[in-house]
Amino acid sequence: MQSFDKYGLNNNLLKSLNDLKFVKPTLIQDKVIPQILSSKSDIIATAQTGTGKTAAFGLPIINLTINHNKNIESVILCPTRELCMQISKDLNDFSKHMDHYKIVPIYGGTKIEGQIKSIRKNPKIIVCTPGRLNDMITRKKVNLSEVKYFVLDEADEMLSMGFKNDIDKILEKTPIKRKIYLFSATLSKKVKLVTESYMRNPLMISSSIANKGADTVKHIYYVSNKNKRYDIIRNIIDINSDIYTIIFCRTRRETKEISKKLIQDNYNAKVLNGDLSQNERDNVMNQFRTKEINILVATDVASRGIDVDNLSHIINYNLPDDPEVYVHRSGRTGRAGNYGLSIVLISNKEYRRLDEIKRLSKISFEKKDVPDESEILKSKMSLFASNFSKISLPSEQDKEKMKDIYSQLNVFSKEEIIGKIITLNSHKAIVSKVNHKKSTIKNQPIKTDNTMSKLRINIGRSDKLTPEMLIKLINKTIRSRDTKIGKINISKNYATFEIESNMKKNAISKMKQIRHYRKNLKVTDFTEDFQETTFNKRRKKIKEKEDFPSL
Ligand code: ADP
Ligand code: MG
Repeated sequence: MQSFDKYGLNNNLLKSLNDLKFVKPTLIQDKVIPQILSSKSDIIATAQTGTGKTAAFGLPIINLTINHNKNIESVILCPTRELCMQISKDLNDFSKHMDHYKIVPIYGGTKIEGQIKSIRKNPKIIVCTPGRLNDMITRKKVNLSEVKYFVLDEADEMLSMGFKNDIDKILEKTPIKRKIYLFSATLSKKVKLVTESYMRNPLMISSSIANKGADTVKHIYYVSNKNKRYDIIRNIIDINSDIYTIIFCRTRRETKEISKKLIQDNYNAKVLNGDLSQNERDNVMNQFRTKEINILVATDVASRGIDVDNLSHIINYNLPDDPEVYVHRSGRTGRAGNYGLSIVLISNKEYRRLDEIKRLSKISFEKKDVPDESEILKSKMSLFASNFSKISLPSEQDKEKMKDIYSQLNVFSKEEIIGKIITLNSHKAIVSKVNHKKSTIKNQPIKTDNTMSKLRINIGRSDKLTPEMLIKLINKTIRSRDTKIGKINISKNYATFEIESNMKKNAISKMKQIRHYRKNLKVTDFTEDFQETTFNKRRKKIKEKEDFPSL
């Protein structure tokens, strides 16, 4: 494929493409640009997200638009405010070197007066969301009677968001001879319905097999009950230290619940849903774009138009109702030649829905075992091992200074030293994880005194208890995050932990009321034991000192 020169686009457009470093047209651009320029027929174009559809319609439409009369010549309809702004920005970039050219965005969720003012300046091309454009039409602020080119971008999204009525009303106001160019990542039934009622002998253009996800995306699924999903998500995040992801949920409530938990657990996460004001949404998106936050918990609708294309993972907290939405979600990773992973969490009952996606999208999924603590540890250790190999060796001088240390360590074999390093660091891996997640909890060993009490709980290693889980359990039951928790000791069948003495009673009574891994929890006071042992230890130390032979 050669450059953009061959289409006969005007020089000012070519100059902008040069500025934008668009060297070669993408496949969909190569197929669509000459067709729109010839204005022969309506077009239905399917291509995955990220394939350059905006320029595919934007360039020829700008090239065809004549700046002589006052009428609106082209309308681009898209589902969300963010996309609306993005597309008009892109089109303004393309037409940067053209005189008097301004593409005006018309979208909801903001005051209409400013947009009415912009319309009075007679733009030739407007980019709109359906609801707000209809509002403008009703107020007689927009006249579509001279429209020549009408683009439906992300048609599948617009229809699944319930804009069918608005689209119908808008199209009725346009002349019958206008050309319609419909772009969609997928060709759903709803989209076909629109094409059948409004388009005449449309040309079908596809840059790939319709509905098929990108080859650079691997799709895997975990089978798990709802109540385990949050922990699985955490494990996924812990294993992938560089994760940059959107966690997709079906409802706003779900997004709120999950983001709240992640934030409490000290992850860099934020929620993006329809409950946020436009300002808040803009802020969150900015933070995500700049990687100030690396985890976004979002609904499908709210995530439209996020122009972030270098996500490492897509996490489907649950499957969307519409299989096409899955294609959209997973299309947000594996872009620009990078590899991406789309992870699906399903319950046993949801296999049927996964099969439907497989059938319609031709995507193949691989079943994986749920990642567990040992995998987290392994991944942290492997990171440690790769850093370890980069550590430089001491100079001869330093070696000399450390002679004693050398001879002290010389007794160990290579095997033993590696083993010890692993033990040392696997312990660190757990501790640092606990500290990282619970920075608000003071869980460092606290000097033992009477302000702390020691309690014993009837679960331990055999119940897969970890210090982190225990801290979580304690905080959850006593509903406080500021309680001081001291030393934790996990034995096979029980664990002991230190807690502020004034929270002791509370902890004992409340923790008794809950069940954990099918066990009724039993928490007992261990303080006496504990104080006595420390007392004994102290005495022993004094005695040792006394016994120490004087030199
Ligand atoms: P789509 O609408 O198909 O999801 P976009 O039109 O938003 O995709 O384009 C995706 C990205 O690719 C954008 O960042 C855009 O600037 C870039 N892009 C589009 N066409 C080209 C091209 N020919 N060369 C280089 N980059 C391109
Ligand atoms: Mg697009």
